[in-house]
Amino acid sequence: MTLTLDLSRKPASELTLPNLVGLTRPALIRALTESEVVRPDKARMRATQLWRWIHHYGVTDFDAMTDIAKETRSELAQAFRLDRPEIVERQVSKDGTRKWLIRTAPGIEVETVYIPDVGRAGALCVSSQVGCTLNCTFCHTGTQALVRNLTAAEIVAQVQVARDDLGEWPSPKADRLLTNIVFMGMGEPLYNLDQVSDAIDIIADGEGIAISRRRITISTSGVVPELEPLGRRTQAGLAISLHATNDALRNVLVPINKKYPIAQLMAAIRAYPGLSNAKRVTFEYVMLKGVNDSPAEALALVRLLKGIPAKINLIPFNPWPGTDYVCSDWTTIEAFAAILNRAGYASPIRTPRGRDILAACGQLKSESEKLRASARRQAARAAETSHTEAEAQHD
Ligand code: SAH
Ligand code: SF4
Repeated sequence: MTLTLDLSRKPASELTLPNLVGLTRPALIRALTESEVVRPDKARMRATQLWRWIHHYGVTDFDAMTDIAKETRSELAQAFRLDRPEIVERQVSKDGTRKWLIRTAPGIEVETVYIPDVGRAGALCVSSQVGCTLNCTFCHTGTQALVRNLTAAEIVAQVQVARDDLGEWPSPKADRLLTNIVFMGMGEPLYNLDQVSDAIDIIADGEGIAISRRRITISTSGVVPELEPLGRRTQAGLAISLHATNDALRNVLVPINKKYPIAQLMAAIRAYPGLSNAKRVTFEYVMLKGVNDSPAEALALVRLLKGIPAKINLIPFNPWPGTDYVCSDWTTIEAFAAILNRAGYASPIRTPRGRDILAACGQLKSESEKLRASARRQAARAAETSHTEAEAQHD
């Protein structure tokens, strides 16, 4: 992670104001009461007004809140902020996938990806951490050190940025472009459950962004003790990054398996609150050539999932520079899927999306950071010959 000195932005004093965007309803009422801007007996009513403006209408300025007195608006603006983070880069793939690199604070950059035609109409893949502490050997994000957990405000902001770009304010009742949220971006959401859970409370609220919990899915590498709290607190859908059917191999691919082996993981999944045929667990299985893609492993997968309401997502491996893994051949993936289908599992092969803008699974962040680093190196080289030229290339 490169830390960038950011001199062009807001004054630090403004950045330290509490951000209303990341507060759940009870926290918003508390913040208003404590701020002394709002009389305690009016805090609940004000919170309802603010909530509609922020999360239903998507406003970024207190001045737009026309049913609040002018004087109160300016007092609110002095005590709180609700502005959007900076969009460092926006890319659109030829398949319609959109990716934003968002700077939420100096040195804190996250990537968020919108994938059309996934889920009901379109899914947003959000990040929960900058980097990741786990080192899954096939994942590029895993090669990056953890910078920090994202706050609920920084997670909600990713949805707001997508909504701005898609032009989906006020929250439409029908015909939405953004219908599903998947926590499959950078980071391990279950190592940041408090903030993820607050963010889901905000995103799912029916008087705001209103994306229902049924359409929110958390993907985890298998942090066993956090599965039950996740289900209880969020009622979100569960996706498990399984990738192997025996401990010896999973220890290598997903090293957290050494701490929480497959048997423990499967027991915790079976106990996940609210599972039914209508609410199945998604098992993610990355297809790695000659590593985990044999017919015997497909059969082992069927045995392992017996009795669990499950669907299986086969993910063709997305390569990145420096990896030794190779994606399985298409015929191998199809043969693997056929075995699962015969056993009664829906097992769609996840078509890689947005590969041309490095937005596919496991390509996030580090890759674009590499490109930007190389752009910076070029700029530095140019500076040796021409100072003016270097300035033009500076990112
Ligand atoms: N940390 C969480 C969520 C983020 S990763 C988790 O591991 O589940 C989202 C999904 O992308 C996971 O299933 C992960 O295993 C998969 N993934 C990571 N790198 C990949 C790659 N290079 N190719 C394909 N899928 C990858
Ligand atoms: Fe972290 Fe998930 Fe990547 Fe593993 S697959 S390193 S848990 S982001």
